[in-house]
Amino acid sequence: MKYIFITGGVLSSLGKGIAAASIGTILEANGYSVFVKKLDPYINVDPGTMSPYQHGEVYVTDDGAETDLDLGHYSRFTDTALSQANNITTGVVYQNVINKERRGDYLGKTVQVIPHITNEIKRQIDNVGDSDPDIAIIEIGGTVGDIESLPFLEAIRQMKIDKGKDNVIYVHLTYIPYVKTAGELKTKPTQHSVSNLRSIGIQPDIILGRTEKPLTDKVKSKISLFCNVEKEEVVQAIDLGCIYEIPLAFNREGLGKLILDKINLEYKNAELKDWKEIVEIVNMEKDKEVDIAIVGKYVDLRDAYKSIIESFNHAALANRCNVNLVWLESEDLKEENYKDSLKNIDGILVPGGFGKRGIEGKIRAAGYARKNNIPYFGICLGMQIATIEYARNVLRLEKANSTEFDPDTPYPVIDFMPEQKNIDKKGGTMRLGAYKCSLKKGTKTYEAYKEEEISERHRHRYEFNNEYRRLFEEQGRMIAGINEKRDLVEVLELPDHPWFVGVQYHPEFKSKPQKPHPLFRDFVKSSIERKYEK
Ligand code: GLN
Repeated sequence: MKYIFITGGVLSSLGKGIAAASIGTILEANGYSVFVKKLDPYINVDPGTMSPYQHGEVYVTDDGAETDLDLGHYSRFTDTALSQANNITTGVVYQNVINKERRGDYLGKTVQVIPHITNEIKRQIDNVGDSDPDIAIIEIGGTVGDIESLPFLEAIRQMKIDKGKDNVIYVHLTYIPYVKTAGELKTKPTQHSVSNLRSIGIQPDIILGRTEKPLTDKVKSKISLFCNVEKEEVVQAIDLGCIYEIPLAFNREGLGKLILDKINLEYKNAELKDWKEIVEIVNMEKDKEVDIAIVGKYVDLRDAYKSIIESFNHAALANRCNVNLVWLESEDLKEENYKDSLKNIDGILVPGGFGKRGIEGKIRAAGYARKNNIPYFGICLGMQIATIEYARNVLRLEKANSTEFDPDTPYPVIDFMPEQKNIDKKGGTMRLGAYKCSLKKGTKTYEAYKEEEISERHRHRYEFNNEYRRLFEEQGRMIAGINEKRDLVEVLELPDHPWFVGVQYHPEFKSKPQKPHPLFRDFVKSSIERKYEK
């Protein structure tokens, strides 16, 4: 196995995850299988317990791992296997080392950062789950210079010696700011960051310069001189409007050939045809566009809804239309104003979420969609919200609620899953990962998937309360999908409505640009139909 380590310099948010994923795209196009992995230096065992404000979306894998949102990019850009093995943190590393120490595995030795922590990091880097990739692409979270990432950098430094120099390269993604008043791109922050890296013993093989203006020859020469790389090893990573153009841009800059030459693998001048097609469709003039409201409580924080946003981009591709996402803070949807906020909207999505804040605004939005024949898509919490709304306003079950928000509700239409009742630990204890769901023929959901049995990923503690199942079915709500093993309601629809679907799972994790998720595709399609047939 070959190893490509990606580090970040100068500042965060440079797009290391997308860079790692795009390198994966290029290598796969050249016929190599890749495994893309993220090492996170924070001490949480996983991001599952972190607030979206801290961490953005928690991306869930089939095996139920709660992971970093960069894994979403890996999944959308490559065919990498995805499981817990793709994301480890300092927390996991220390937990494993301390468990070994308690078992007595270290035979009386003093347990230290070097070699015990670094050895555990190296062991984790080599863990590629059940897959057998040609190349592992390893992204190191954080920025070079952070105290907490030092053991990771030390471990990857050692790996060049362990695995041989033809098998390991370091790609440093750095920032090259453009200073308007000077009219110049500045290389000094990059010089400092590379000098930092070199002081740890890592000489980058390739410098990927994130920039808003094209990198001139002069700038490349300067970086080459100060950072001890060839000029050709300085590659431009320019800001682009569409992330799916990044693999194409990197390839044009020669990054694919540069990397493959360095790890002694043949470069096959692959064309990335399907990615070109995607970008062509993105740039095409569209004659239709829809406004889709996302009613959530982190609407000022787009990272919290990363996979949902990308799923809409894919659905827009599939429908050859523009999708404008209108972000509505659910707490602001009050009785007196919610109709105004929603009146020009073509479709409403209520995404997943936790906790009581903003719940009533979401319930109003679901009711508005139901009554006005506006396409509605409820994901996880969004499905639970639509259930509560129906119980209160159609079944007349006053104060119906989820026991998550009102433990004393007289009508707990959404309730704690029984197996959750005795759990007191918060980390990794929800119903997580892939479960099967059987779809009923003739439903909108079946029409979308065209399959009777599907598998989707979950992350929840509460569920539809089966005591209310008969009542709901008798009164017009259709149960379109269930998990047979647990007899758990997974999909609810409104039959006399153009498109009203609530799912207990998270479809957004599996959408890809070349394979838009069928539910997002059909939700956008019905929103177009509503708008243009109106
Ligand atoms: N809070 C709800 C639950 O735990 C919904 C979770 C979600 O939307 N991911 O069941």
